[in-house]
Amino acid sequence: MSKIAHYLQEHLTGEVMVSADARDYFSKDSSIFNIPPAVIVYPRNENDIRKVARFSWQLAQRNRIFPITARGSGTDTTGGALGSGIVIVFPAHLHHVLELDSKSGDVVVEAGINFGKLQQTLQTHGLFIPAYPASIEYSTVGGAISNNISGEKSHKYGPIANFIKSLRVVLSNGEVIETEKLSKKELNKKLGLSSFEGEIYRSIDTLIEENKELIKRSKLNLTRNNSGYNIYDVKKDDGSFDLTPLIIGSQATLGIVSEISISSESYSPDSTLIMISVDDLDSLQHIINELNKSKNWPCSIEVVNKGLLEAVQKINPNQLKNSLKLPYPEYLLFVEYDIQSDHQQKKVVKALLKLASRLGLETRVESEPELKQNLIKIRECSSTYLGNNDGIRKALPIIDDSVVPPTQLATLISEVTEIFKKVSLDNIAIWGHAGDGNIHIQPHLDLSQVGDRQKAFKLLNEYYDLVINLGGSISGEHNDGRLKTPYLRKLYGDEIYELMIKIKQIFDPFNILNPGVKFETTEDEIKNLIAKDYNLSNLYTYLPRT
Ligand SMILES: Cc1cc2nc3c(=O)[nH]c(=O)nc-3n(C[C@H](O)[C@H](O)[C@H](O)COP(=O)(O)OP(=O)(O)OC[C@H]3O[C@@H](n4cnc5c(N)ncnc54)[C@H](O)[C@@H]3O)c2cc1C
Repeated sequence: MSKIAHYLQEHLTGEVMVSADARDYFSKDSSIFNIPPAVIVYPRNENDIRKVARFSWQLAQRNRIFPITARGSGTDTTGGALGSGIVIVFPAHLHHVLELDSKSGDVVVEAGINFGKLQQTLQTHGLFIPAYPASIEYSTVGGAISNNISGEKSHKYGPIANFIKSLRVVLSNGEVIETEKLSKKELNKKLGLSSFEGEIYRSIDTLIEENKELIKRSKLNLTRNNSGYNIYDVKKDDGSFDLTPLIIGSQATLGIVSEISISSESYSPDSTLIMISVDDLDSLQHIINELNKSKNWPCSIEVVNKGLLEAVQKINPNQLKNSLKLPYPEYLLFVEYDIQSDHQQKKVVKALLKLASRLGLETRVESEPELKQNLIKIRECSSTYLGNNDGIRKALPIIDDSVVPPTQLATLISEVTEIFKKVSLDNIAIWGHAGDGNIHIQPHLDLSQVGDRQKAFKLLNEYYDLVINLGGSISGEHNDGRLKTPYLRKLYGDEIYELMIKIKQIFDPFNILNPGVKFETTEDEIKNLIAKDYNLSNLYTYLPRT
């Protein structure tokens, strides 16, 4: 064991590990990267996390940088859960529900709790958190907060940020703060503190005040955007102030979340699911525009394209046989309504069917749970595509989750198809959250081959240029991590990019919290981090759903 590991083992209640096996295991998340950590820590309480941060801070004061990476279940697809220093693993001990008020629906949890288990617990009280990722069964709530996840129901309910009431956060110097919405008076109190917390409030407040106009005019008009930091929701026009939006989606680069207070909604499995077969992009765009204009939003508007269905049919010829007839349409749109009023629900379903009929499109409507499953199975066939190897080529999360204004979806799909042709990739499989302009694309490539690496970086550059030109963001759901970091300046422009760097410096002056994630990684650096053996075999128990 290194001196550092010995020191930590002596001072922490939790365990410290440096075995080759453990380091190998934590050198991977669900991204294409590989970074072995030096030390792995399993904190038993918040005090353990504080001590690790304090230790790293004191080393940094003596010019020795030993970085810290917080980790939930490691399903991050961007390399955000990897680090070369100390990896703090949450699920082992910090996985408890601390408070649950079944009347208000508010729940307080430790960050390492499995999201699926929390959802099941809430459902026994008739509650649920409507913003959950497809990876719910095998990921933590801490990871969900730090990536600001969205999911299938986020079209109506938004990302998880909408459900967070407050956070307990360990700062880079080991101090613990609680973030929540503060009134002007409460903010003034914080501004007067002589601690690191006070320094953070003062610096962030000044930065936001000095750049008010720039911040206002640079906000992207999107329903999902997890690139950079959310500087837009910290200070509101009424003078209220909240650091929570900065921590949410910051991928452990500003602080380490120990406890989370979340609100939930009442749960009802009743819904109506409509599947529409669409044969051209104009009709697809038209339906999405109409749905987004309506007063009663569906809880989800999802899409899969023919490229995905055909790829799945090639892998498992019988998988879709009983659910879907050949030939497959160009697109299948899945629209789900969960409106409480039966009358209202019937009305909106009727209106949608009328629209589809006007466009000459085939539809299927299901309300019975078992019959809905048959349609859901089609939407979820992307797991077969993700889990399969086409020879040595695998579906890679490299241009995985960009988002554009929903009105630009058809243009995005048609132009990315051209980019694929340009790099000689003949099949493009697309699925995802059409109603939000947020689609998943994972090309089949083998990054150990020079030609495929060149294709990957050509795709990254051309696709992100396209997304940015359409007014979109390079990350709708899965965040920046290390993968998208080189392209953030292009997305935001110099002024906002530099402002975000200043935020990082205020929270983390020694750059010890997950360095290289979100900022300060070049394309050449990420090329050097690519793993030799990318796969998702750690997720096969649950299937890698997206
Ligand atoms: C097959 C598949 C499907 C997916 N589907 C979705 C989806 O539908 N929607 C979506 O938004 N994402 C999705 N993801 C991405 C990912 O699963 C989610 O972001 C998930 O919530 C991450 O949780 P985790 O516990 O695995 O976190 P990790 O991967 O361990 O960590 C994620 C990030 O959070 C940070 N972090 C973890 N714990 C803490 C903490 N306590 N304090 C501070 N920072 C912390 C890590 O440093 C890292 O940067 C998917 C990924 C895969 C592989």
